[in-house]
Amino acid sequence: MKLIDPIIQFHSELQQIRRDIHAYPELCFEEKRTSDVVAQKLTEWGIPVLRGMGVTGVVGVIRKGNGNRAVGLRADMDALPVQEINTFPHASKHTGKMHACGHDGHVAMLLGAAHYLSEHGQFDGTVYVIFQPAEEGGGGAKRMMDDGLFTQCPMEAVFGMHNWPGIDVGAFGVTSGPMMASSNEFEVTVKGKGAHAAQPHKGIDPVMIAVQIAQSWQTIITRNKNPLDAGVLSITQIHAGSATNIIPDEAAMIGTVRTFTTEVLDLIEQRMRTIAEHTAAAFDAQVDFEFTRNYPPLINHARETSFAVEVMHSIVGAQNVDAQVEPTMGAEDFAFMLQKKPGCYVFIGNGNGEHRHSGHGLGPCNLHNPSYDFNDELLPIGATYWVRLAEAYLPKN
Ligand SMILES: [Zn+2]
Ligand SMILES: [Zn+2]
Repeated sequence: MKLIDPIIQFHSELQQIRRDIHAYPELCFEEKRTSDVVAQKLTEWGIPVLRGMGVTGVVGVIRKGNGNRAVGLRADMDALPVQEINTFPHASKHTGKMHACGHDGHVAMLLGAAHYLSEHGQFDGTVYVIFQPAEEGGGGAKRMMDDGLFTQCPMEAVFGMHNWPGIDVGAFGVTSGPMMASSNEFEVTVKGKGAHAAQPHKGIDPVMIAVQIAQSWQTIITRNKNPLDAGVLSITQIHAGSATNIIPDEAAMIGTVRTFTTEVLDLIEQRMRTIAEHTAAAFDAQVDFEFTRNYPPLINHARETSFAVEVMHSIVGAQNVDAQVEPTMGAEDFAFMLQKKPGCYVFIGNGNGEHRHSGHGLGPCNLHNPSYDFNDELLPIGATYWVRLAEAYLPKN
């Protein structure tokens, strides 16, 4: 592995920063302390800072030479509403909140890169290091863009990175095209007519109608969608009724839809609505249909992906880069940035969990798990990737 020496020297400080952020996790748009830490470090290293985009977002501006070209590197800062079950010293001090997705590590890796780029970076142009809030459902990337990220910081391309448990430390995964899914929510309420459970003929039973709709919806996945296209429709909550002897007025179904393309999403949404409305009509009931599109699919751009792959090759060798990694049905709001700018999002291997210190909770070292911990071995690898990517993107002539 060809890591950058000064970054290796800086490893223990990066680890300290990472563990400090881990101990004080903050949720969507509440990353007050975290963004203060980020801004303070950047300022300490002489890097000008822009604050306030996306409420708690921070952008460091690192300029070298006279070139007009610019590139953006992005990390997310927020934690999750999870009660950490690890008991090692840097475990969360905030009850019910935890860095269970490794955004603490993402912040530390990008800070490490910023520090090096500002002191020793060999490039011509501007590197924007973007620390965004609220990736976990809040759409912080979109909020920063709405607040002028790409106008205040005009950049040609933007790159993202996420740690990935199950991929070896020192390895990367990426793929051109769709890599993560769109995430969408629905809430559908069947409105029938309540009755005594022993006199069903006097009412319109919304539970039976909801069951019919739920069954029929699965035929969208198996009968309407092209089998070569990916799509998930999961009903995750069903709510109805309050007693054993009362037919309720209403039955609600809540859940998520994931797809890799807008075309498949359009199809699923439209068929869900048709099935819900027509099934309800067939039973003389009514339906409230709410469908919310949260994050679009994350689509890596071909040119920037090849570019990123070359950079990864130069650091860890071609044998440690899976350039056709299996996409995941998880979602990521970096997708919004890739709708506006060319770029590429990569997975950096977090290993299989053996790095965790004594005191880690029982359970897999998976993202969004209460026993998860970011692997500090990645800090110099991720920081080196960011540096080499920026330097290669903005070469000195
Ligand atoms: Zn997450
Ligand atoms: Zn995450």
